[in-house]
Formats: sequence, structure tokens, C-alpha cells
Amino acid sequence: MAEQVSGTDVIVVGAGIVGVTAAYELASAGHSVRLIDKGRVAGLQSSRNWGFVRRQGCDPVEAELVQHASLTWDRLGEEIGPALTLVKKGLINLAPDEAGLSKYRDWLRASGGDTLFGSRMVGPDEIRDLLPHVTGEWAGGLLTPSDGHADPTAAGPAVAAAARARGVVVEEGVTALEVTTSGGRVTGVRTSAGRRAAGRVVVAAGAWSGKLLAPLGLKVPVRWIRATAARTTAVEHLTELAVHVPAVGFSQLADGSVIFGSAAWSDYDIGIDTLGNLRLFLPNFVRNRTMIRLHLNEVVVQDVLRRLPRRDRDAIRFDWPRMDDPPPNRTKIERAHRSLTALVPRWGSSRIARAWAGTVDVTPDALPVVAAPPQYGGLVVATGMSSHGFGIGPGVGVVAAELAQGKQPSIDLEPFRIERFAEGPVRAHHHL
Ligand SMILES: Cc1cc2nc3c(=O)[nH]c(=O)nc-3n(C[C@H](O)[C@H](O)[C@H](O)COP(=O)(O)OP(=O)(O)OC[C@H]3O[C@@H](n4cnc5c(N)ncnc54)[C@H](O)[C@@H]3O)c2cc1C
Repeated sequence: MAEQVSGTDVIVVGAGIVGVTAAYELASAGHSVRLIDKGRVAGLQSSRNWGFVRRQGCDPVEAELVQHASLTWDRLGEEIGPALTLVKKGLINLAPDEAGLSKYRDWLRASGGDTLFGSRMVGPDEIRDLLPHVTGEWAGGLLTPSDGHADPTAAGPAVAAAARARGVVVEEGVTALEVTTSGGRVTGVRTSAGRRAAGRVVVAAGAWSGKLLAPLGLKVPVRWIRATAARTTAVEHLTELAVHVPAVGFSQLADGSVIFGSAAWSDYDIGIDTLGNLRLFLPNFVRNRTMIRLHLNEVVVQDVLRRLPRRDRDAIRFDWPRMDDPPPNRTKIERAHRSLTALVPRWGSSRIARAWAGTVDVTPDALPVVAAPPQYGGLVVATGMSSHGFGIGPGVGVVAAELAQGKQPSIDLEPFRIERFAEGPVRAHHHL
């Protein structure tokens, strides 16, 4: 039943890790806040990830942001407590050969990760000490002792609960259909449950943000990548480190289960949108082509069928099961499980308890968009987290809250402007 609801200071669209943190910060600063989500709190990417909270491997231009995010996780840990499930006992990448090690050294040099984050190279002896149950011949590794992991199914809801306790009104199952504006300022949001008034709107709608922003003439180009992960049955507790090797990445949770996924490549389902923004995406696709598997499957047919004339245009834009609940790549996750149990033979008896996938929104340069577009007073965009938004999401949420309050942001947002895509050559993806 549509209803006009009296206004709040700020509406946050999207209750993923970015949106819940922005709402929590705004409420903590004394603002009235409405947080709306078309599904449920952290129902999409923010509960479907591996849970890595990392600075290690960041793009050097993100160093300030990832550091800010890491400090934000620490603060949230103090304010929210164990419900956040944050374990900051280190993240380690292991390399089988000299080529891998030189990538790590290059990253240390470019990012300043040694002085900024305490990251350092480790040799085979230290790897054996840190991970006595891990097999394999490792040439060395890269360790950031104060990176870590959290349970993705728990962290977002924990922040949302803390936001509710500070007065945030959380509306689940309510879709934002349009950001309304008048005279160059936002006035609120038209939703599936009626109009919601507010002088400030934060768009943190993950993979869907572009569809909400396009009618405002704001273009946030993203590709939707299908990323698969799984959780094992509970096994012997062996490590608190988050571990990444070429074939698999994993972290063990307090209940003994292990979240893992294949680090080798991601799946991309070709759809109608694939043809859009080719100029922006091709350079990094060509550079990293071994890391993406293209699939020509039923997705392209669904795309065509969805665009046939029908009355409910809003549903076409925001109700798309293939994006919200894509099928996991079973072959890939079974292979990753074999890699996991070969790497840690003491987990040989583990079974895959659950496998799932999520749609990751990746921008052409794999950097987020965090901006207050000058075209619309009161509008803030915090999206395009490009596969590492669980770790940086809280930091982005804090900065989005600062922008929504008209405050000077804590970090330099120059690398995260929307206009960068229209301006010039796309920055090369950075990864370990
Ligand atoms: C398998 C997998 C593994 C990953 N591993 C990691 C990792 O280890 N570490 C890491 O840092 N990152 C990881 N990521 C990426 C990370 O999960 C995301 O970058 C991050 O969660 C994005 O957060 P978000 O808040 O921007 O988006 P989301 O979590 O997607 O939240 C957006 C929310 O907006 C809502 N929404 C959308 N449109 C509307 C609308 N019109 N109206 C109302 N609500 C709307 C959605 O329902 C959703 O809840 C992984 C992702 C996947 C899928």
C-alpha cells in the first residue's frame, strides 16, 4: 500500500555493508535516518563474500581509503562488540615461485604497505611456523598481521542492529524506484511503498546503483561478475589467519566452519549489457583475460525476454533474480574444495555445507565510486566496490556519511570521482 511518510534528514538506499555503516554513522551524529532495502539487510554481496578484511593487495591509489576502512573496522569492533565477529589476526598470501614473490615486492614498493600497514615478506620457515598444518612448497609469502576476516553473514546485520538501536528506521522489502529532485536538490525517494522525503540521499545500492542513478544522468559503468563461495562443515580449529594461495582462499570462523573460494578466476555471464561501455572495460579485460571466464548461457536469453514490451518497467529495472541470486559454479567450488583439503589435509573430512554465488559490481578500474555529484545537492553515491567492498565498505560508509552531512571527507576522494570514466584512459587493474 503506497504511503507518503513524513521526512527524515537522510535516506540511505541499500543495506549492504556500505549502507548500514553510513546509516549507523549518520544516526550516531544525531541525524534521523531511513535505511531502505529491496530485499533484506546484507542479503546480497555483503553476506555472500569470503569475509576478508584486507588492505593487502590494494591498488596503491586506495591506500588511504583501505587504511581508513581498517581503522573503522577497529572502531566498530569496539562500539559493536563480538557480534561483529571481527578477527584481525593477519592475512597471508603464499607464492609458489619467484614470479609470485616479485609481484608481492612490487606491491610493497608501490603501496608503501610496509610502513602504512605493517605488511612484510615472509620466508618458507616462517610460513611453516605460522601455518604448520598447510602443505606445499612455498617460495615465500606476503603477510599483513593486522588484516583479518569477519563472518559476512553476521557483520552487516550486527552494524544494522546497532544502527536501529540509534534510531535508524530500517525498511526491508522496499525498493527505491527513483531519487526525486527539485531545482537541483534531492527531495527524497519514490519507493515501491510510496514516497519518502529527505533532503539527503545516499545511494549505496551495490550492483543496482547504476540503474537508480542513470535517470539522473549520472553514469556509473559496472560489469556484473558472478563470484562463487562456499562454507564447509565444522572442522578442527587450525588457524585464525586468512589465507590466500593461487588455487584457493579461506578463513576459518569461530564455529569451526571454513569459508573458501577459488582465487583463480571469476565467471562472467554474457548479457545484453556486455556491449555497453566496451571502450572502458576492454583494456583491463585484455590485461587480465586469464582471470575471467566468459559464459554464453541462458542469461542472454533472459535479458532479451525481460526487455520485451511489458507494463511493469520498475520490475524490469530492480527485480532480476539472476543478479540477486545467481547459481554458484559447482565445478569450480568442488575443485576449490579439493585444493583446500590438499592444502590442509587435516580438513580432509570436511564437506561442502553450502555453496552460493553473488553478483559483484566491478568498475572499469576496479576502484569504487564515492562522491557527492555537484549536479544534485544532497546526493551521495557510494558504490562500485569491485570485489573488495566487504573490507573497505565500512570506511566508504563513514566517508559517505561525512559527505551527506556536508563535512570535509576524512580522505582524499579524487581517485573515486564519477567523472573519471569519461575523462581519460582507464587505470590498469591492480592485483596480487
Ligand atoms: C563470492 C564473493 C566473495 C567476495 N569476497 C570478498 C572478500 O573476501 N572481501 C571483500 O572485501 N569483498 C569481497 N567481496 C565483495 C563484497 O562482498 C562487496 O564488494 C560488498 O559487499 C559490496 O557492498 P555494498 O554495500 O556496496 O553492496 P551490497 O552488499 O550488494 O548491498 C547493496 C544493497 O542494496 C540493495 N538495493 C539494490 N537496489 C535497491 C533499490 N533499488 N532499492 C532498495 N534497495 C536496493 C540490495 O538489496 C542490497 O542489499 C566478495 C563478493 C562475493 C560475491
